[in-house]
Amino acid sequence: MRILVVEDEPKTAAYIAKGLTEQSFAVDVAHDGVDGLHLATSEAYDLIVLDVMLPRADGWSVLQAIRRTRQVPVIFLTARDEVADRVKGLEMGADDYLVKPFAFSELLARIRSLLRRGQAQPQAETTLQIADLEVDLLRRRVRRGASRIELTAKEFALLEYLLRHAGEVMSRTLIAEHVWDMNFDSDTNVVDVAVRRLRAKIDDPYPAKLVHTMRGVGYVLELRDE
Ligand code: CA
Repeated sequence: MRILVVEDEPKTAAYIAKGLTEQSFAVDVAHDGVDGLHLATSEAYDLIVLDVMLPRADGWSVLQAIRRTRQVPVIFLTARDEVADRVKGLEMGADDYLVKPFAFSELLARIRSLLRRGQAQPQAETTLQIADLEVDLLRRRVRRGASRIELTAKEFALLEYLLRHAGEVMSRTLIAEHVWDMNFDSDTNVVDVAVRRLRAKIDDPYPAKLVHTMRGVGYVLELRDE
């Protein structure tokens, strides 16, 4: 885990950096807003600790510039506990807020909590799409263009699997294992039958075919020219 600390007061910066290094974080320190922004947008950090009052560019403008391109969690440090400052920081996209002076253990707790939050909520995909085929994973609905397509549970699982691996050739064995939970020596003819049924619904009525047979290997879902 790599953390950027943007703090102009040398003592505070050293104190935070030492504490985080002892906790096995990799730490970079910037001492003004311009250097901080440069590092924040040119390197990959898991979290940024950002002081509000900084020389050359203040924390507000640094955060604003970071948010144009990065979604990294940011904790603001501020000298005053002003409600207006807190609201401004959160509105501008800060994830948390700490008032100086603070105990290192408090900062560490906030950092850990934000890093956990980031891991617990990966950007869950709720729809998958290729060409005009759209699959809503939550509502379990399939559309191609304007028309709704009804699939059985297995057909849906098969389509989802092929879509998640769009452009990759998936062997019958892999498909059988993942969609039917069968082991490799099972009769993979089941796969061919299911693919034929799926095609009848999502491909046959439409000019652009998406499911393609790789003879002797398996199937690939992709949009091809012509
Ligand atoms: Ca400062």
